Amino acid sequence: MNMPRAAGRPFMALPGPTNIPEPILRAMDRPTEDFNSPAFEALAAGCYRDLKRVFKTDGTILCWASSGHGAWESTIVNLFRPGDAIVIPETGAFSTWWAEMAGLFGAEVVTLPGDWRSAADPDAVEDALRKDTERRIRAVGVVHSETSTGVLSDVAAIRRAMDAAGHDALLMVDTISSLASMDYRMDEWRVDVTVGGSQKGLMLPTGLGIIGLNDRALAIAREGGSPRRYWSWQRMLDQGGDLPKFPGTAPTQIFSGMRVALDLLFEEGLDNVFARHRRMADLVRLAVEEWGFELNARRPEERSDTVTAVRWPEGHDPNAFRDSLRDRFNVAVSHGLLDLAGKIIRIGHLGDLNETMILGLLGAIEANLAIDGVPHRPGGVRKAIEQVTANRT
Ligand SMILES: *Cc1c(COP(=O)(O)O)cnc(C)c1O
Repeated sequence: MNMPRAAGRPFMALPGPTNIPEPILRAMDRPTEDFNSPAFEALAAGCYRDLKRVFKTDGTILCWASSGHGAWESTIVNLFRPGDAIVIPETGAFSTWWAEMAGLFGAEVVTLPGDWRSAADPDAVEDALRKDTERRIRAVGVVHSETSTGVLSDVAAIRRAMDAAGHDALLMVDTISSLASMDYRMDEWRVDVTVGGSQKGLMLPTGLGIIGLNDRALAIAREGGSPRRYWSWQRMLDQGGDLPKFPGTAPTQIFSGMRVALDLLFEEGLDNVFARHRRMADLVRLAVEEWGFELNARRPEERSDTVTAVRWPEGHDPNAFRDSLRDRFNVAVSHGLLDLAGKIIRIGHLGDLNETMILGLLGAIEANLAIDGVPHRPGGVRKAIEQVTANRT
């Protein structure tokens, strides 16, 4: 059967990729340019400089034509030799995959078990580091916003725990679903390596893995690591002049988009961007609880402002709901991953979103709950409207 054309734009409520604002789309709609030209180098230099303001670092920024997975892999091959130990608190699917990747390259991964509903536990990190009397642990890797569970971890608290243990392991943080959407302070929190990507808070297409590094991380990479070429941090810096050299062809159009994305973020003001994400997240959480569903993140202070994982009623299939929502309303929400498969749906609320879009999203979800006969209390949308009204008085 031919499906009728879905009118309107596909409504992205995935926790990445996010919808791309019109000015960014238009900026990328341009001919390919010479990536060795002074014009492109100036464009890229400006982007690297301004990304530091988003990471809140004076360190080094590097990018690859890759997804976030590539930037992850770069952390492992640049920093670890087979047999090095690395601590990764288990927060959900993304921490699990990062750990799995490190294990594949021969790292000995110390996972600190978690319940997939809570933040990384600073006490457990401190404990693991204190036990490491032989100093085999080289790094602690934390996922800031665990996109699979909707849980936010406290990076500053993890750094305090590392200090308390008196251990000199590096701190690496995956900010792929929090960067440019929630407060993140690489230098102030003394993070050594920050992993980011283009298609979430930066509102760009998938295609750039982005990394922030301090000098300590670079020095350790110079001394150690595993065989690498494409992912080599030092090679990009050695081959570049003032600007890191792309290993191969630079994806020029995405930088044209990034220029506009950064301008939009700074024009709104990063603090206002974060406050807006908090408001949007609150609307979603209010509606979800009013419907009678349980939020996967147990503690209010650990709830990510970019993604909400909703525990689904027993006996009802969240994936069927996700599919019918897409087919009926052209709205994309996401499913549960690994341990949470078949138990939750995930509503992404990051990037270029306003109240109108969130109310539309919640309206479509509430209607679809009724149509599909998923048990719920109506009134989530009304609750969200009341909140919008209260915010504006
Ligand atoms: C999306 C995401 C990734 C993976 O990024 P890709 O660009 O899909 O490779 C890793 N970590 C977190 C926390 C994410 O949200």
